[in-house]
Amino acid sequence: MSYPHVQLLINNEWRAARGGASLPVHNPADGSVLGSVAKAGVVDLDDALAAAAKGFDVWRNTPAVERARLMRAAAGLLRERAEGVARLMTLEQGKPLAEAKAEVGSASDIIEWFADEGRRVYGRLVPPRAMNQQQMVLKEPVGPVAAFTPWNFPINQVVRKLCGALATGCSIIVKAAEETPASPAELVRAFVDAGIPAGVVGLVYGDPAEISGYLIAHPVIRKITFTGSTPVGKQLAALAGRHMKRATMELGGHAPVIVAADANVAHAVKVIAAAKFRNAGQVCISPTRFLVDEAVREEFVAGFSAYVRGLKVGAGLEAGTQMGPLANPRRLVAMQQITEDAVARGATVAAGGERIGSAGNFFAPTLLLDAPLDSAVFNNEPFGPMAAVRSVKSLDEAIAEANRLPFGLSAYAFTGSIKTAHQLSAQLQTGMLWINQAAAPWAELPFGGVKDSGYGSEGGPEALEAYLLTKTVAMTSV
Ligand code: NAD
Repeated sequence: MSYPHVQLLINNEWRAARGGASLPVHNPADGSVLGSVAKAGVVDLDDALAAAAKGFDVWRNTPAVERARLMRAAAGLLRERAEGVARLMTLEQGKPLAEAKAEVGSASDIIEWFADEGRRVYGRLVPPRAMNQQQMVLKEPVGPVAAFTPWNFPINQVVRKLCGALATGCSIIVKAAEETPASPAELVRAFVDAGIPAGVVGLVYGDPAEISGYLIAHPVIRKITFTGSTPVGKQLAALAGRHMKRATMELGGHAPVIVAADANVAHAVKVIAAAKFRNAGQVCISPTRFLVDEAVREEFVAGFSAYVRGLKVGAGLEAGTQMGPLANPRRLVAMQQITEDAVARGATVAAGGERIGSAGNFFAPTLLLDAPLDSAVFNNEPFGPMAAVRSVKSLDEAIAEANRLPFGLSAYAFTGSIKTAHQLSAQLQTGMLWINQAAAPWAELPFGGVKDSGYGSEGGPEALEAYLLTKTVAMTSV
């Protein structure tokens, strides 16, 4: 599959922007131009909104079993096409091909789970206070949805939003990332080819602020969902509030990793080092702040450094590559600034810390030791291949540091003690906590954060609830 000119999907028609505008798409492994993506203007958005309104009428009146059948058919098509779709993702995003394939495979799994869960959206009967009455609680789709997704998991970020909407009977307009447009277009194509009715799914690209400003304010749109940085999330949530739109916000994180004195350190290193450098650390739940009990610090740092130095960095399509380039030059600059700041404040670079070569966005996997708590790396989400390790003297100190930041998306802990595990479960301010394991965000588990990491969930039954309205109906027979 060669890299395409990515088009908009409006009313089940793949087409260019009416004004003919487009944006270039770059290969992060060498900076070359891969192709282009259509850039929607207001006329295109108006077409997409009219289609979404029509699509909603059709889809909300489609039985849940039929919706599930179409979604499962799309999952099957995506599975058949996984190899080619993954290649496009690696070309535009940079991640190793094996990771891209895993993302496409997991998207099919997610679609199937949501398809089945959509068949189990039940209301309830509430016992009445008189015997000639009946009281019902009905669940209805909220209406056309606008979704805004980033470039780090071009398909995974779209699929949870798409499926939450489709499983509950909503139509949806997705604005996927302009930097990685081809793979989400292939995800959407699987739904179109499976027979999804016109207008149920729309796909647009363009100027993010212009599109979100227009769609969120528009009366057709009843719910928004966004994944991206906390500052942008706050802006969009404010806009949603102004227009009284439901919102789900999946924002940044800065995941603490607590390694307790009684942890199986070899296991911790094996699990968490691999998790750290997945997608070159450009993951909202990436482990970043390593708080290691001083009793096991030496063993942990030795194992972690050895892993980091052994990582094979290269273009995502090259065989054997374990970590690809950063997805865009902005992350490269950010990694350089964070490293310089830490070193200036007294941190040691145990591995990496610099750009690799001059072509493409390659940055060496980096391990920083003893950066102070006021350094950038301990406060701003690095969103790159960077781990910062500090010693702690006690579990209480680790918990206090974990909870210090305004983020609360994901946290990790390694311990051999059930007492410690219980304490962490109770006291960590986080949306997700993974103990003695890497994150396993299966579709059936709630996925979302607290505090500045956002609100709402993109997994489990809660993910469908976000797209449903509750209606009370009480009737008296007279
Ligand atoms: P950014 O804040 O400019 O953009 C983040 C995402 O939001 C992008 O996909 C962008 O297209 C979109 N966006 C920006 N302004 C928007 C607007 N007004 N309306 C709608 N969408 C808008 O940052 P960036 O340089 O692209 O990414 C870096 C930061 O973003 C990271 O540090 C990280 O915190 C965050 N991020 C988080 C996730 C996540 O999975 N939660 C994913 C990607 C990026």
